[in-house]
Amino acid sequence: MEMNHLPERMCVGCRQKGNKSEFIRIINKSGEIAVDSNGKSSGRGAYIHKNPLCLKTAIKKKSLDRALKGSVPNTLYVLLESQIRVEASSALPTGSSLDNSQINE
Ligand SMILES: [Zn+2]
Repeated sequence: MEMNHLPERMCVGCRQKGNKSEFIRIINKSGEIAVDSNGKSSGRGAYIHKNPLCLKTAIKKKSLDRALKGSVPNTLYVLLESQIRVEASSALPTGSSLDNSQINE
C-alpha cells in the first residue's frame, strides 16, 4: 500500500506526511489565496498541520508562498493561526460529522 501514486499530503511546516484530518488545506485559486474550509475547492493546494509550530515554521521559511506559488497575505496567516488555535482546543476524537459514513456491516 506504499506504492500508490496519489498526491501526498505534506505539511509545509514540518514537511511530514499525514492524514487529511490532520491538516488545514490552503489553496491558490487563480491568485487568490484562501483557506479551503470545506475541502472542496480545486486549485493548487498546500497543507499545514493544525499545529502552531508548523505555522510558525511555514511563515519563517515562506514555504506556503513557495508551495502555492503566490504571495500569502498576512491576513491569511492570522486566519490560520486562529483556526489552529480553535482546532487545538477542541482536538477531541469524537467526530460529529461522521454520521453518514458509519456503516455497521
Ligand atoms: Zn507539520
